[in-house]
Amino acid sequence: MTEITDLTLNEIVTNIKKKKISSTEVTKSFVERSEKSKKLNVYITENFSSAIEQAKKFDENPNYELKLPGIPIAVKDLFCTDGIKTTAGSKILNNFIPTYESTVTQNIWDQGGILLGKLNCDEFAMGSSNETSFFGNVQNPIGENLVPGGSSGGSSAALAANLTPVTIGTDTGGSIRQPASFTGTVGLKPTYGSCSRFGIVAFASSLDQAGPMTKNVKDCATLLEVISSFDKKDSTSIDFKRNNYSSELTKNIKGKKIGIPKEYRVDGMPLEIESLWSKGIEYIKNCGAEIIDISLPHTKYALPTYYIVAPAEASSNLARYDGVKYGFRSLGENLIDMYEKTRSEGFGEEVKRRIMIGTYVLSSGYYDAYYLKAQKVRQLIKKDFDDAYKKVDAILTPSTPSSAFKIAEKTNDPVSMYLNDIFTVPVNLAGLPGISLPAGVDKNGYPLGLQIIGKPFDEQSILNIAYSMEEKINFKNKITNWWM
Ligand code: GLN
Repeated sequence: MTEITDLTLNEIVTNIKKKKISSTEVTKSFVERSEKSKKLNVYITENFSSAIEQAKKFDENPNYELKLPGIPIAVKDLFCTDGIKTTAGSKILNNFIPTYESTVTQNIWDQGGILLGKLNCDEFAMGSSNETSFFGNVQNPIGENLVPGGSSGGSSAALAANLTPVTIGTDTGGSIRQPASFTGTVGLKPTYGSCSRFGIVAFASSLDQAGPMTKNVKDCATLLEVISSFDKKDSTSIDFKRNNYSSELTKNIKGKKIGIPKEYRVDGMPLEIESLWSKGIEYIKNCGAEIIDISLPHTKYALPTYYIVAPAEASSNLARYDGVKYGFRSLGENLIDMYEKTRSEGFGEEVKRRIMIGTYVLSSGYYDAYYLKAQKVRQLIKKDFDDAYKKVDAILTPSTPSSAFKIAEKTNDPVSMYLNDIFTVPVNLAGLPGISLPAGVDKNGYPLGLQIIGKPFDEQSILNIAYSMEEKINFKNKITNWWM
């Protein structure tokens, strides 16, 4: 029997609009399933009873014109929610209750969405496995003791476990696409400037973007349509004409040119990923698109460039957490002592590592050698894409160099953890849109994703390509409810 929680967003919306189910029934179903799924540790803050109250209110006075009519949605705990604790997965924000709402979440509530709760994530979104969270690691519903990816690991796990119909994450170097790939779900990082950063706890401001995480491509288009908006409150928000992504969605990609970058065939890439990629190429050809070999020569510098730029911006953004303005405070003998104790006790290991790296690359003796150099290389990476887009409409690559790994497998080796981002960071450095689509499984049956990278502001094309591939791939996520 199909449960409400098994349905896609669009199916639930249709059923609500046809009055076959009520918002209250839907909300109660997700709450009940979430209650039985504590073992996954996806929630940092639950908003269950208030969500049911709001659903009842919706049902008393429904508005079926909205895009998310009475739909309960859990969100990553990096989005500030007015009056509801927002931790960014950190001890230092453990008691932080914002007095404002992020624009992206406000857009969701304006369309009828209801907050189900705040989802676990790596501390300040720094990580690839959700293991840097102060609130503990998250289990991947795909299999016991597997990481759900990160930093949006609570989001990917909650979605794959059917605890929320859709969710949102943020992606600075891959934090939407990599967890989507690890959990057999769809995740899209929009073009930089598409979704407002207002009210999102900042990690690396020139890279951070919010985006949808969903069970299929159609839901992804629907949610992107809701969250993408021009916002005067974010100076990097861009005022461009946004598509009606869901109604313009088409499987017709005949004649589209898809680039295959040779530099993404990295040393030591598992054969399974290689063959997944080849299959993806076949699927695309079957959809009537043309495959073109391309070169992105500076790809090999993307990871080192990212791990200079992102920590530099993080060290500056995180200077605000000093125990004075908000958040956790440790007692000290004097002001300096209080600052030091607050920051040493409030931040976790990974965050401290990034602050150290960031402060180092920005220090006067090393600024030119590291930070300035990285900024120049970033331009070259961007130029590689600009050149490629003279010949192709989009680019197909694997999303990640591996499937979900075991909890604690990589925690002692930051560099091997950073290598997870090898296929995703170039997209953030260039500010481009990218989507990860579940495309197959490895020998253990764990999901693997393919990434489609688009031209700036051309989310519609990557959605269309993913939509047509999705039909051919016909991926079915196997969730056994082992944690219940
Ligand atoms: N894993 C990457 C990092 O730790 C990316 C994180 C993200 O996209 N927020 O920096």
